[in-house]
Amino acid sequence: DLEAAHVEKWIKGVCRYCGAGCGVYVGVDKGKIVAVQGDKDNWNKGFLCVKGYYLPPILYAADRAKYPMLKKGDKFVRISWKEAMDLMTEKFADSIKKHGVHSVAFYGSGQAYTEESYFMNKLFKGGLGTNNIDGNPRLCMASAAVGYVSSFGKDEPMGAYDDIYHSDCFFIIGSNMAECHPVIFRLINERKQKGKDVKIIMVDPRKTLSARIADLHMSFIPGTDLVILHAMAHVIVKEGLYSKDYVNNHVVFKTIKDDKPAKVSFEEYVKFLEEYTPEMAEKISHCPKDDIIKAARWFAQSKATMSFWTMGLNQRTRGVWANNLVHNLHLLTGQICRPGATSFSLTGQPNACGGIRDTGLLSHLLPYGRLVANEKDRKDMEKFWGVPEGRIHPKPGPTAVDIFRAFNKGEIKCLWIACTNPGQSLPNVGPYRKGMESKDTFLVVSEAYHPTRTSELADLVLPAALWVEKDGTYGQSERRYQYLEKAVNPPAEARPDLDVMIEFSHKLFAKLGRADEAKRLFNFKNSEDVWNEIRQCSKGTAYDFMGMTRARLKKAHGIQWPCPTEDHPGTVRRYTSRYGDVLVKKFDPHATDVSFYGAKADGNKAAVWLRPYKGPAEPPDAEYPYILTTGRQIEHWHTGTMTLKVPELKRSAPDAFVEINPRDAQKLGIKSRDKVKITSRRGSIVLEAKVVDVPRDGLVFVPMHYPERLINLLTTDAYDAMSKQPEFKICAVKIEKA
Ligand code: SF4
Repeated sequence: DLEAAHVEKWIKGVCRYCGAGCGVYVGVDKGKIVAVQGDKDNWNKGFLCVKGYYLPPILYAADRAKYPMLKKGDKFVRISWKEAMDLMTEKFADSIKKHGVHSVAFYGSGQAYTEESYFMNKLFKGGLGTNNIDGNPRLCMASAAVGYVSSFGKDEPMGAYDDIYHSDCFFIIGSNMAECHPVIFRLINERKQKGKDVKIIMVDPRKTLSARIADLHMSFIPGTDLVILHAMAHVIVKEGLYSKDYVNNHVVFKTIKDDKPAKVSFEEYVKFLEEYTPEMAEKISHCPKDDIIKAARWFAQSKATMSFWTMGLNQRTRGVWANNLVHNLHLLTGQICRPGATSFSLTGQPNACGGIRDTGLLSHLLPYGRLVANEKDRKDMEKFWGVPEGRIHPKPGPTAVDIFRAFNKGEIKCLWIACTNPGQSLPNVGPYRKGMESKDTFLVVSEAYHPTRTSELADLVLPAALWVEKDGTYGQSERRYQYLEKAVNPPAEARPDLDVMIEFSHKLFAKLGRADEAKRLFNFKNSEDVWNEIRQCSKGTAYDFMGMTRARLKKAHGIQWPCPTEDHPGTVRRYTSRYGDVLVKKFDPHATDVSFYGAKADGNKAAVWLRPYKGPAEPPDAEYPYILTTGRQIEHWHTGTMTLKVPELKRSAPDAFVEINPRDAQKLGIKSRDKVKITSRRGSIVLEAKVVDVPRDGLVFVPMHYPERLINLLTTDAYDAMSKQPEFKICAVKIEKA
């Protein structure tokens, strides 16, 4: 209640939750955040969703972690920071001395600040020489990143939210934007209200809130959307709706031959598409062929078409291919790189793009488009960081799920998890929880709350400052970097993660007999020092942050990269001179070699990929006849550690349920509020039924947010071979009345 709240000062920041990155002002009174309002001068024009409006209570939850806690027997006991840091550095140093650098690992987060992620990447890859560092964006957007790199040669969307104002056809696939990115969805809704002839195509096996404003809702059997996308391309080619000029000048066609990427001709692509008729697609996907034809025509013939997607495409064993096939449609039709025509992957976390994809905190990446598998990139970074040649290991390290597999086996002996909750969020979480609890390994968890489903398994819990209790930057989905000022102090002994990381690096290196090297490598006093090194590191790459000084970011309502000079306004759209950026006339040479993924975009041309249809890892069968899919509700975010602390949000969405459609419910003799047992090959859970005509026949949905209902005990940890992103969206289950 802005009228009622007494506010001493308003401080500019960014919402703590989704990758939309809404600008906010937080109202401070007597050292406390007492109010929040949307930033009217930012892209969100002052609007926030219900999660954003209820941000302040997350800081004052009763279970905030306030002191370092050490597990003794079954109990946690309070210890001092000195004891905590001594113990942690001793454990890590001992492990490195006895078992080598690959015996330790770090698991980070798309919620950490950019400066924190950059620092840890430097510490592990440049300082220690191990690539045992990955983060939770591997679970939500790795397929989108590999999709962009393999189709365009560079990661990150080329467009911006501003494209929504110029688009007259929205192709939304695998995204319930109305609940997951509500403020972006609001812009689409507004465009729909104002723009005559604006069309919305929604491709989703659930009739979600987002589907309510769709002109065309295409439902299908989960996992079969690849045939729908190919069938749309089939119609576009067959009806001559593709752009000959665009295809001739800006596109190459690619396939995999003998395990290597190989160019093929347009004619070969047309031949490849022959079998993917709308009839064939209907047979496999159960999406009506007339809908597929209509969608293809709207996509190609609209003045400007904009695609959005998120976890429905990414969290799949064919996630990269699905991403490629959406890009294919844009490239075939020339619906790309002009206002309103763009291919835009949405992001789940506030800093997954900035902190993880850009800084390179994934086990195969180096900062700003560089790769660990590329010799020139390694040499570049070794020189930049001032470490000896050969320090950066040439082999990509284990990815998210594999870090926890290695921890289970004892190959990784010390693991530090910061700002994320894998004890709830990993797929097939049961066995990984056992590994995290093991007495033979050492698990440190930096958390703002305790206990969580992860911190309860830790040996040592470090209390973390949260959101505006520390300063730093977030980079959201449209390449916009925003600065968050520190507004209030953290509770009791909680500290900003960056402070702890810097102290850890010096203490660890001292124990390894490398104190002088640490003084040189980790000589940062605050997050601004780290930000300044980040700007230098990005200089001359496709990212180029040189113009984004801290002073500018403090004043601006976000700046979009590339921004190479202090008088540069930032870049709303990339590749506007076709495939040369306005700034970077050719593809960045660093970004064209993506051999880690066995794919490579071609010089100045983008790639249309021939990706044959393959189904999910675990289709339903006679024993497990239903498909389980998981996702979000508008009130809650991720594992609920924050939003479930807000009374208003908890009251509105208090507990998990299983959504089942009336036809399936009748067959199974289930009514709303009955207790239902859902069983997969990995586990069971009992939930209340919600009989509602939202999921299609044969599909059930469970929200992912509730710590006391670990739905990930059931999901599969099978992952995409290229991106290593797990298939959270599809696994086979059976259902019975409990
Ligand atoms: Fe926060 Fe996302 Fe809601 Fe914006 S849309 S207020 S960033 S949760």
